[in-house]
Amino acid sequence: MTLERQLAEIVGNAQVLAGGDLPAYEVDWRKRYRGRARCVVRPGSTAEVAAVVLACLEAGVALVPQGGNTSLVGASVPDSSGTQVLLSLARLNQVRGVDIANLTMTVEAGCVLQAIQEAAAAQGLLFPLSLAAEGSCTIGGNLATNAGGTQVLRFGNARELCLGLEVVTASGEIWHGLSGLRKDNTGYDLRDLFVGSEGTLGIITAATLKLYPQPAAVTTAMAALQSLDDAVALLSLAQARLGSGLTGFEVMNDFSLGLVRKHYPQLAQPLAGAPWTALLEQSDSEGEATATRRFESLLEAALERGLITDAAVASNLEQAHTMWHLRESIPLAQSEEGLNIKHDISVPVSAIPSFVASTDAALQRMVPGLRMVDFGHLGDGNLHYNVQAPEGVPAADFLREHEKAINALVYEAVMAHGGSISAEHGIGLLKRDALVTHKSPVALGLMRAIKQALDPRGLFNPGRLL
Ligand code: FAD
Ligand code: ZN
Repeated sequence: MTLERQLAEIVGNAQVLAGGDLPAYEVDWRKRYRGRARCVVRPGSTAEVAAVVLACLEAGVALVPQGGNTSLVGASVPDSSGTQVLLSLARLNQVRGVDIANLTMTVEAGCVLQAIQEAAAAQGLLFPLSLAAEGSCTIGGNLATNAGGTQVLRFGNARELCLGLEVVTASGEIWHGLSGLRKDNTGYDLRDLFVGSEGTLGIITAATLKLYPQPAAVTTAMAALQSLDDAVALLSLAQARLGSGLTGFEVMNDFSLGLVRKHYPQLAQPLAGAPWTALLEQSDSEGEATATRRFESLLEAALERGLITDAAVASNLEQAHTMWHLRESIPLAQSEEGLNIKHDISVPVSAIPSFVASTDAALQRMVPGLRMVDFGHLGDGNLHYNVQAPEGVPAADFLREHEKAINALVYEAVMAHGGSISAEHGIGLLKRDALVTHKSPVALGLMRAIKQALDPRGLFNPGRLL
């Protein structure tokens, strides 16, 4: 019996799709990678996932797990060989339960992030993971990439929000690790091994997540800054004044916001023209009035100290949405502008100003006139440090000529500042070679040993990450 026939017996005929021309599954979000699957399989339960893995194991056929296919590093699509089975988790989309007193929620891997946020809100609770792809990415993908987003400063990455996992292993067994415990020191942490493994160690089928009380008020503000040094000082001041009430701190350089002005002129910009703009978010358990007062007093103190030159506090939800919308429109405006070279890097917050100053200068020496699209999660030391061709230079020529050298320069600078070449998007295919250059041989050896122990036949997502 063919593998396709076997798979159809497990999941039903309608849930095995012929590969070869299924762009929603075979082309990545940035349209940089176009693969071809042997077939696409859409199981509807954990037991079906386990049976699919077993069938593929016996046939010696590799599997590529996929959630919402929003990976930015080419980790979620098959290669072009036409031999890999694409395993879509999209149909595993049930909320299995909410434990209000324990502040936990158990969901299946294919649940869309926004649906999880809404299910928590329906119970008066908060699931704080938040990113621009939340309308289509899934919790399985968020955990497999240890996603970050805009609330990491207060709540941590996806890893910190996960208490337990259910996983189908490379031998087709099910690990029932759906614990809601906050304390459990019974040996190696298997959960944390699967989180961030980019689908190379096991298939996540469900997760138990941490919830938080909903804040009574969320307030948002923007501040105009002359430099990144001032932005770091403003962050310290905001942390001192707001404590754990500070839930977001983003920065954008003027060129980033200029791209938004150019491509989305209908979006009003409260503080146009400063070299840097900070976006701050505060969550408060008391209420709107207290939160706004605290925000205004913070911004007045920052003005007095000369850290900011202007500020705007959103006076209603719509204005707050507009501020976040501006920030989230930068990647889209950047795509409108044309191809560019993306870096998702982190360095210690204290090193951000010197990293940007010295790396900008080195890049200008390499290609005079190139333009920097700098924005990101300053509160986490994570910048999207992207490079656009000089005015008038065709983007494709620029990439062909300079992409390799620019990546090497930026990653060397990141390492020299004690940073990471991938802060939140993962390694996938895009950064696999860079990982080998910049990770220590000891760390790579341990990672390969773990892969060998958990997936000795190389069944899951071969060629990605390692
Ligand atoms: P996919 O893209 O389908 O898969 C991602 C990886 O996880 C692949 O390696 C895949 O094989 C694996 N995988 C998926 N599901 C499973 C599973 N159930 N079990 C095992 N492995 C699995 N990331 C951030 O961290 N922060 C951001 O702010 C952010 N913003 C983004 C904004 C946009 C507009 C887009 C398009 C992406 C953004 N991302 C961001 C990238 C981020 O990695 C994804 O949005 C998300 O975490 C991936 O979820 P997904 O369900 O789409 O996973
Ligand atoms: Zn980001």
